[in-house]
Amino acid sequence: MHQLPQLSYGYAALEPYIDARTMEIHYTKHHQAYVDKLNTALEGHADLQIKTIEELLRDITSVPEDIRQAIINNGGGHANHSLFWACMNPEGGGEPLGVIGGTIQNEFGGFETFKEEFTRAATGRFGSGWAWLTKSGSSLSIMNTANQDSPLMGNKIPIVGLDVWEHAYYLTYQNRRSDYIQAWWNVVNWDEVERRFNEA
Ligand code: MN
Repeated sequence: MHQLPQLSYGYAALEPYIDARTMEIHYTKHHQAYVDKLNTALEGHADLQIKTIEELLRDITSVPEDIRQAIINNGGGHANHSLFWACMNPEGGGEPLGVIGGTIQNEFGGFETFKEEFTRAATGRFGSGWAWLTKSGSSLSIMNTANQDSPLMGNKIPIVGLDVWEHAYYLTYQNRRSDYIQAWWNVVNWDEVERRFNEA
């Protein structure tokens, strides 16, 4: 059975950038619902139940068609949110150092350029979805996806993800998605991004 991952910080820890009520609802209601529906979709599929969510998404075409969309939506929702929580913390923000900092410098020509490009991907996603920094081979790219679609389905490994569904920001920011995106940079956990970059 898939489960909610533990948060390494409290619901109020990311304030004022992300409010406690949003964190609580997002984690205990939205993410929990993806986990529950994923487990329901996998009922009776012992061969799939033993796979990690990453394995399921990377090899999504091997999932039977009658449950494939449910796995894309709810399995994607589970994987995406698990990454999202891990890549934030109250001590986050600033500019990344380490290998990830150097690679961003090399591939995007500087952190500010990277930030602008990522912000454009997040702002420009029409409707609900995600903005991503992904690793494929040794190179990085910025992309966005609709709904809960995971970059893993396109053979890219997400190392940072930003949820731009309205449920992620509406209580504080209402329609102002770009204010939420600007605020989010203050809580990006670059140590975790570095770890995922090295592991990918
Ligand atoms: Mn969400």
